[in-house]
Amino acid sequence: MKVLESLGELRQTRASLPEPVGLVPTMGFLHDGHLSLVEKARQECRTVAVSIFVNPTQFGPTEDLAAYPRDLPRDLASLEAAGVDLVWTPAPEVIYPPGFQTWVTVEGVSQGLEGERRPGHFRGVATIVTKLLHVFQPQRAYFGQKDAQQAAVIRRLTADLDFPTEIVVCPTVREPDGLAMSSRNTYLDPDERRAATVLYRALETGRRAYAAGERDADRLRQILQTVLAEEPRAEVQYVSAADPDTLQELHGPVESALLSLAVFIGKTRLIDNLVISDQ
Ligand code: AMP
Repeated sequence: MKVLESLGELRQTRASLPEPVGLVPTMGFLHDGHLSLVEKARQECRTVAVSIFVNPTQFGPTEDLAAYPRDLPRDLASLEAAGVDLVWTPAPEVIYPPGFQTWVTVEGVSQGLEGERRPGHFRGVATIVTKLLHVFQPQRAYFGQKDAQQAAVIRRLTADLDFPTEIVVCPTVREPDGLAMSSRNTYLDPDERRAATVLYRALETGRRAYAAGERDADRLRQILQTVLAEEPRAEVQYVSAADPDTLQELHGPVESALLSLAVFIGKTRLIDNLVISDQ
């Protein structure tokens, strides 16, 4: 497994990589969710490349950039064991050299939900993903459904900017009790970790209500809110039932929906989602 830091080395190496190349962009502190993307890429591509970069521009001024967990030696060992060919670990100055002033902004789909609560977040995401797609020129890039709006933003971005890369979105990997795996779960103390299971319980309750015939988007949101209200450590930021493609909030009867939520458990902000549909 090659581990590179500079842009020059990466460009040079890219030129001779066997294709198709699959890219898995990450911020490191890897868990089985990340590794599921790597496995999928391994099945589909001759070369699997992973980037590890805690992208400062997608964090707001009051968010957890400085505290974000990092463990490069452990990450590299996991990636080596997973059969990855190439890892890029650029320093922030490699991605954002002095004088940097070009940004990628996706409109509509990045505006509600996470975009509304994390101003500038998707500008940072769209900019780093654009840069990664330019430098790696991958045939496929792998993202997680865990970050549903991010996946929708990246799909829009690659369609609008004519990237030839196929965007592959992989299912959310969960802990046995349903909590979606996340690098941020490491912030939770044992009581908070128990409380955090309420996110998935709320989503599952919504899914069951839908399966039992509930089709009203407002009532589905209310069902999630009711479950969340039973957990005193949970402070709800939003609960949404949105169109899975446009992410517009839905009202009245729906055929399908992206149920999503953002909840603070103590100081830790967690997100999760499920898609419900007839098919
Ligand atoms: P991050 O390191 O948090 O930026 O995540 C890197 C990629 O892994 C993103 O495409 C995430 O959506 C994806 N990912 C994170 N957690 C999970 C999970 N639990 N299941 C599946 N994919 C995930």
